[in-house]
Amino acid sequence: MHFTAIDRVPGDPILGLMESYAKDPSPQKFDLGVGVYKDAQGLTPILRSVKLAEQRLADQQTTKTYIGGHGDAAFGKLINRLVLGADSPLLRERRAGATQTPGGTGALRLSADFIAHSLPGRGVWLSNPTWPIHETIFAKAGLKVSHYPYVGSDNRLDVAAMLATLASVPKGDVVLLHACCHNPTGFDLSQDDWRQVLEIVRERELLPLIDFAYQGFGDGLEQDAWAVRLFAAELPELLITSSCSKNFGLYSDRVGSLIVCAGDAEKLLDVRSQLAFIARNLWSTPPDHGAAVVATILGDAELKALWSEEVEAMRLRIAQLRSGLLEALAPHGLSERFAHIGVQRGMFSYTGLSADQVKELREKHSVYMVNSGRANVAGVDETRLTLLADAIADVCHS
Ligand code: PMP
Repeated sequence: MHFTAIDRVPGDPILGLMESYAKDPSPQKFDLGVGVYKDAQGLTPILRSVKLAEQRLADQQTTKTYIGGHGDAAFGKLINRLVLGADSPLLRERRAGATQTPGGTGALRLSADFIAHSLPGRGVWLSNPTWPIHETIFAKAGLKVSHYPYVGSDNRLDVAAMLATLASVPKGDVVLLHACCHNPTGFDLSQDDWRQVLEIVRERELLPLIDFAYQGFGDGLEQDAWAVRLFAAELPELLITSSCSKNFGLYSDRVGSLIVCAGDAEKLLDVRSQLAFIARNLWSTPPDHGAAVVATILGDAELKALWSEEVEAMRLRIAQLRSGLLEALAPHGLSERFAHIGVQRGMFSYTGLSADQVKELREKHSVYMVNSGRANVAGVDETRLTLLADAIADVCHS
């Protein structure tokens, strides 16, 4: 038999958590696990701008033939503008190009293979903690993965420790940075912190890979791109992985891109030829539908305006849930202990709850969050904030 020696590996813990949640019969259960935006009804809706674009596509699309290795050219052009800014000099100088990928994860996978294949010997540095998939994607590509400190055991952002480690990273290594709404902690760098990171990156000749999965969920669509654009303006070379899963709500359509910024237009073409080759061997050509939706929206002033309003509404709701949860914790005397919830950005919060408290929350109160204490704040609806705060207070005081 061929398969006799094959072991069973444990499933993805976040997906496992989703399954346990689905099986829980409690009517009062909370799903704060998987990183998906939910509205006040607990649904992950299809955006109106997306529906309108899909209707247009259904009427106007004439073929389902393959799109090229770099994906939909209109999508690539528009996503470059969204990420780098419509008036970015890099676009005028043809120094930046987007390769469409199946989601942001596809973009990370493509960058991992690109580094392994075209930049041999380079290690990759990840924040501690980071999104667990970062660890495995780069390791599976055969790259040496190391960590720089990010959040300490006191659940605070430790910029000094981060900078100290980055300053000792071997020249030429790749450093992965989260553009905004850091997953899993929710702690983001200040503009001043970013400038300090930039100086070290420049001095150590590091290659930054900026993971941009939550554009629009932190401080706004343009504001969230601030660090990406700073790095693009100040450095000749940069990799950016962008995802349309969250801000377009296109999770299942798998839309993302790897944007490469190169020193000049010719070098960009060299790098892109490698990416096309690697992508061809990974998934051949990317899926079409989601990118066509994004291109339809971003290429139409009215749809783009509607979409921007919808992203802003999601962003504001997440921010309100954060402040609402803090208010609900106040009567329990927990405002100070959880003050970080108000400082963090995006859907995720490193709550600071221990693995035992997370377990107790799940078993006693049907509150599902990741063992690290990461909660998806967008997973609670405003009417049940008090109930959630009561459950948190119960495990904190027990
Ligand atoms: N990077 C980070 C940090 C993420 O949190 C996610 C989604 N959880 C992604 C990338 C990629 O998401 P997707 O593949 O669904 O676009």
